[in-house]
Parts: sequence; structure tokens; C-alpha cells
Amino acid sequence: MGITQPPERFVLPETAGERSVRIQGGVQSLIAAVADTIPAGVVELETRVTAIRLDEHEAVTVEAARADGKRKEFSASAVILALPPRVVVRYINFYPSLPQNVLTDLRSKPTWMGGQAKAIAVYDHPFWRESGLSGFATSWVGPLQEIHDASPERGAGALFGFFGMPAKTRHEMGEEKVLHLVREQLVRLFGPSAQNIRTLLYKDWSRDSDTAVEEDLEPLRDFSRYGQPPAAGVWEKKIIFAGTEANSSYGGHLEGALLAAERAVFEITELNNKL
Ligand SMILES: Cc1cc2nc3c(=O)[nH]c(=O)nc-3n(C[C@H](O)[C@H](O)[C@H](O)COP(=O)(O)OP(=O)(O)OC[C@H]3O[C@@H](n4cnc5c(N)ncnc54)[C@H](O)[C@@H]3O)c2cc1C
Repeated sequence: MGITQPPERFVLPETAGERSVRIQGGVQSLIAAVADTIPAGVVELETRVTAIRLDEHEAVTVEAARADGKRKEFSASAVILALPPRVVVRYINFYPSLPQNVLTDLRSKPTWMGGQAKAIAVYDHPFWRESGLSGFATSWVGPLQEIHDASPERGAGALFGFFGMPAKTRHEMGEEKVLHLVREQLVRLFGPSAQNIRTLLYKDWSRDSDTAVEEDLEPLRDFSRYGQPPAAGVWEKKIIFAGTEANSSYGGHLEGALLAAERAVFEITELNNKL
């Protein structure tokens, strides 16, 4: 459908699509609940691992840079890497280097959704519901391709959308113009009340160097082949890959990250038992 044609309204059957659920309070509440179980002082925020060294006595040293510019070192018997594989290759130096086939494997695993961005329009109340609309919309015209009602249980209303517009186009266009197009699209879809946005939030993960690298700007057409990398030579049992992309069943999703973490804990426990 062209941009000049009005959007069409559909009644979706109960059985349409996979049923999805939202976490009350957002994913942040899950993170906060997990963080609460970790003793204070264990998690080092604002600290980026820059290098990992293995010496001749098999001792591992992790080098890190803090946001204030100070450097820090940690000693370890093994390291669990729970971050996107391409970010590992791009930002962490290994001494000695990881084997070539491991590096190639890590580079071949895009960060799932790493090229995506979200826009969230916050309103005083979910006005679209008054017209019998669910807030769910799909569009091939864009810039948002998939829009959902993201309102909290009470009070304010919110619509969030993923972009159909590729990351490169968003970067070239600039945030202001992109968000202008988002506003126009919301008005086309949900009527003049959609103009009354209280706050318009925007997060572009393709610009987030903790999540994505340049190669992730290319839109992903399908789920990649995720799972454990091949044997890591001298680093075997010293580096454990545990981010979601290390899981072959649910790689890319939160579930994949949880399963990969469970596997890593199992491996570390096994290693400790053998010592
Ligand atoms: C837009 C978007 C929408 C998504 N929607 C869904 C969804 O609906 N359902 C779903 O299941 N999943 C979804 N996902 C995927 C989900 O977010 C991931 O599967 C999950 O976050 C992966 O967890 P992780 O622990 O492997 O890695 P991450 O959550 O990426 O965590 C990696 C951590 O490592 C840190 N880090 C990076 N580099 C370094 C370094 N050098 N040193 C130290 N720390 C570093 C980062 O800051 C980050 O905190 C979505 C992702 C995106 C981007």
C-alpha cells in the first residue's frame, strides 16, 4: 500500500500470531530482581573489558577501562563472556590471540536486533482504545514497521514501534527527521490525537558500541546460526561464551541468554570440582 492510501483497520482473530507476554514493570524489573540477588561490590558498572591475558602459568588477567579513564585489572581462573560475539572480537584483545576459526565464528554471529531502534510515544492516556483500536499496527510504508501498545496498566498511554527503515538510512537522516516521520506516521495511523505526544523516546542500538558493530547495520532477514563457537585452543576452559548468541535453541532472545548462563555456570562448577 502506498503512503497516500489510508491505513486499513483489521479485526485480528484470537488465534492470530504467537501469543506474547510482557514483563510487568518492563525488562528492567527482571534485571533489578536478578541484581538484587548479587552481593554489593561484585558488579562493576561503567567498566569496559579491553584485554584478556593468559600467562604461562595458566593464570588469566582481565584488563578494564573505567568511564573515568582509570584502568583496572582482575585476576581470574576463567572468564565468562556474556556479551555479543562481534563486540568481543571488536573491542577485546586476547593475548595470545583466540584461534582464527574462533574469531571467524564469532564475527559470523550478528547481534540479534543489533541494527534495530525503538521509538516510544508517551501520551496522557491510551486514547486509541476509545476508538476500539488495540494499538497494534504493521506498515510497509514506515518508518515504523511494527507498532504495539506499550501502556502501563494504569494512567499514561504509550505506543512503541520497531523500524522498517534500515539503520544506515536512520543515521543519514538524523534523529530529528526520523522522529518527525514517526510523529507523522502515528497521526496517519491513529488520528489527530496522536499529535499530543508527551514524550517521544528513541533508542538506536546500532549506535550502541556495547551491543552492535558496523556490520550489524545490515538488516537481518532471518535468525542466524547461533550456538557455541569451536574449541578455543589454549583458551579452552579459560574463556566460556555465554551471551544469548552462544545458545543454539533460543539464540538472540532473553531465553537464549538465560540458557547460555546456566550452561556457563555448569561448566565453571565442573571445572572447580576437578581442581
Ligand atoms: C531492540 C531490541 C528488542 C528486543 N526484543 C526482545 C524481545 O522482545 N524478547 C526477547 O527475548 N529478546 C529481545 N531482544 C534481545 C535481548 O535483548 C537479548 O537476547 C539479550 O539482551 C541478550 O542478553 P545477553 O546477556 O546475551 O547480552 P546483552 O544484554 O547484550 O548484555 C551484554 C552486556 O555486556 C556489556 N558489555 C559490552 N561490551 C563490554 C565490555 N567490553 N566489557 C564489559 N561489558 C561489556 C554490555 O554493556 C551489556 O550490559 C531484543 C533486543 C533488542 C536490541
